[in-house]
Amino acid sequence: MKFCRFITANGSRFGRVETRDGHDVIVEELGAPQMQVTGAGVPEQIVLPEPGAGKVLDEPFPLERARLLTPFPVVSKILCVGRNYAAHARELNHEIPAEPLIFSKPPSALLAPGGEIVRPAISQRVDYEGEVGVIIGRRCHLLAEGESAKPYILGFTIINDVTARDLQNKDGQWTRAKGFDTFCPVGPIVNTELDPWSGIQVQTRVNGELKQDGNTRDMLFTIDRIVQHISQFCTLLPGDLIATGTPEGVGPVQAGDVLEVSIEGLGTLRNPVVNA
Ligand code: MG
Repeated sequence: MKFCRFITANGSRFGRVETRDGHDVIVEELGAPQMQVTGAGVPEQIVLPEPGAGKVLDEPFPLERARLLTPFPVVSKILCVGRNYAAHARELNHEIPAEPLIFSKPPSALLAPGGEIVRPAISQRVDYEGEVGVIIGRRCHLLAEGESAKPYILGFTIINDVTARDLQNKDGQWTRAKGFDTFCPVGPIVNTELDPWSGIQVQTRVNGELKQDGNTRDMLFTIDRIVQHISQFCTLLPGDLIATGTPEGVGPVQAGDVLEVSIEGLGTLRNPVVNA
């Protein structure tokens, strides 16, 4: 199933999305996903509504005309993998990491599709990084080596891991450079049936010009390995988001630019850039 979250006259709603004649349209208003919790109140699992059980729209509504929100409310954290494509590590003159390199973004950095990415005044170089995003659907702790992460994944989306490159280099650790408000655009949809394991194309365009054109089969660490690695040091909770790294071709953005990250099966995440 593919779904989005959008604003209606009656508040925010989840919408089931289908591709018809090459265009993504909202065909049904879905009920809200349910969070199952343990007896101790710990989030355990997200249960999605059944397709067809909601309010089917008389007329399919074009996704590009909807007022979209981030497609899923992040519950506790956003974790990211740095340098997960060899060509990208090389373009920034970095060594290829021996194990997944993990950092985090605060949930306050989230930005809806169409929202403005704000270049902070204290940075002279802000970059785009188009990435596949993983949304956790089931609590995951101490995943065994070689075990599949699939049972713990709700679905996939697009993330733009916006980065203040000069501050990243200056600070050494990345919390500030990666964590500004608006530095985590996400969307437009979640696809629960996508298969990034078999290789899907990740493309980023700036003002229509192709800048990144990579494939998930070139990831240094697979999604299973990333989830396994993270789950050794912190429990992944349903609703958590993981950015899986960016292919080569990163570069700076200026106010007035329009960034588009497109991934097979996930559509296009489009955000304009402004100065603070
Ligand atoms: Mg990144």
